Amino acid sequence: MPAEPSCPPPPLRLTLDPAALAHNWRALDRLSGTAAAGAAVKADGYGIGARRAVPVLAAAGCRDFFVAHWAEAAALVDLVDPACLAVLHGPLTAAEAAWAQANGVRPVLNSLEQIERWQAVGGGVCHLMVDTGINRLGLPLAALGDSRLAALRVDILLSHLASADEESPLNGRQLEAWQAARQRVPHRRASLANSAGITLGAAYHGQLTRPGLALYGGVPCAALAGQIRPVVRPEAAILQVRTIAAGDTVGYNATFTAPGPMRVGVVGLGYADGYLRAWSGCGSAHFDGVRLPVLGRVSMDMTVIDLTATPRAGEGDWVTIDYDLPAAAQLTGLSQYELLTSLGQRLARN
Ligand SMILES: *Cc1c(COP(=O)(O)O)cnc(C)c1O
Repeated sequence: MPAEPSCPPPPLRLTLDPAALAHNWRALDRLSGTAAAGAAVKADGYGIGARRAVPVLAAAGCRDFFVAHWAEAAALVDLVDPACLAVLHGPLTAAEAAWAQANGVRPVLNSLEQIERWQAVGGGVCHLMVDTGINRLGLPLAALGDSRLAALRVDILLSHLASADEESPLNGRQLEAWQAARQRVPHRRASLANSAGITLGAAYHGQLTRPGLALYGGVPCAALAGQIRPVVRPEAAILQVRTIAAGDTVGYNATFTAPGPMRVGVVGLGYADGYLRAWSGCGSAHFDGVRLPVLGRVSMDMTVIDLTATPRAGEGDWVTIDYDLPAAAQLTGLSQYELLTSLGQRLARN
C-alpha cells in the first residue's frame, strides 16, 4: 500500500534567520566584555522555537541556557549538556527536584523552601536567585545569613533587573544589593544583566549575562540600536484575491471603505496566530518590495491586505508581514516581548 501523504504545510510560517541569531548572540557576548553571554530560551525561545534556536546559539559559542519551566528543560535535554540548562522557576515540588537530580538539569533556587527541597533530594550544584528589588522571585537579602545556605554549592548567583531598559535609580540600587550578595554567598559565577542590562556597563556584567529579547531581534534600549539584526519574519500565503468597488467595505464592522476600485488579498493569518487586532489600520505586508497595507479589522484566522499596488501578487503567493520589533511596538502599543511570544503555533517553524 502506498504511504499516506503527510499533511502539507500550513499557509503561514515564521522564517528564522539563523545567521542573524548567531550574530546577535556574538554582539551581546562582545558587549558583555569579560563576562560570557548565556541565553534566555524560555517560552519556546520567545516564540521563535527553542529547539531551533538552541543549536544555533550553541554553535555560536553560547554555553548557558535559561528556561522558566521544567517542561521547557525536558524539551531541550537532548540538545545540550543538561548541566548547562537552568530552570528559573526552581523546584516547586519534590517531584521537580527529583527530576532535576535524575536528569542533571540545574535548578535556580528562589526561596528557603526551595533550598530545603533541593537538599532533601540530595542537593549538589545549583544556582541561587537573589531578589534585589524587582520583588518577583528570589531570596531576599535578609535571608542570606540563614544557615540553610551554608551547604549549598552555588554555581551562578543571579539577580534580575527591573528597569534595565530605562535610566532609573533602581538600577544602581539593585547593582549595590547584588554586589552585597556576592560578598555573602560563596559562588562560582555572578550574573545580573538581561539584554538591556548589558548596556549599563561592566559593573553589571559579573561572569555571565543573560540576554533574551535582543537575541531574537528585539531592541530594548537605544544603546543596542544598530547592533541587533531581525531574526524572524512572519510570512503568509494569499488565500484569495478579489476586486472591490468604491464604497465597498472590508471585514468585521466595516471599518474600511474603499475610496475607489481596489484589488485586495486575504491572507491566512489572524489574531488567533498572535497577529493581534492592534494591527488593524496600521499593519502592512510586503511583496516584491511593494508595501501592502492591512485593510479593516484583523480577524481570527484572516487579514485583508491591499494588493492594488502589486498586480503580480495572486492566490498562493507568499507575502512577508512587516514585523520589525521596535517599529511594531511603536505602531501597536504592544511590547516587543509580547509581539514575539504571542506568535502562535499555527505558524510553521522549520
Ligand atoms: C527573561 C529573563 C532574562 C532575559 O531578559 P531579556 O529582557 O529578554 O533580555 C534574563 N534573566 C531572567 C531571570 C529572566 O527571567
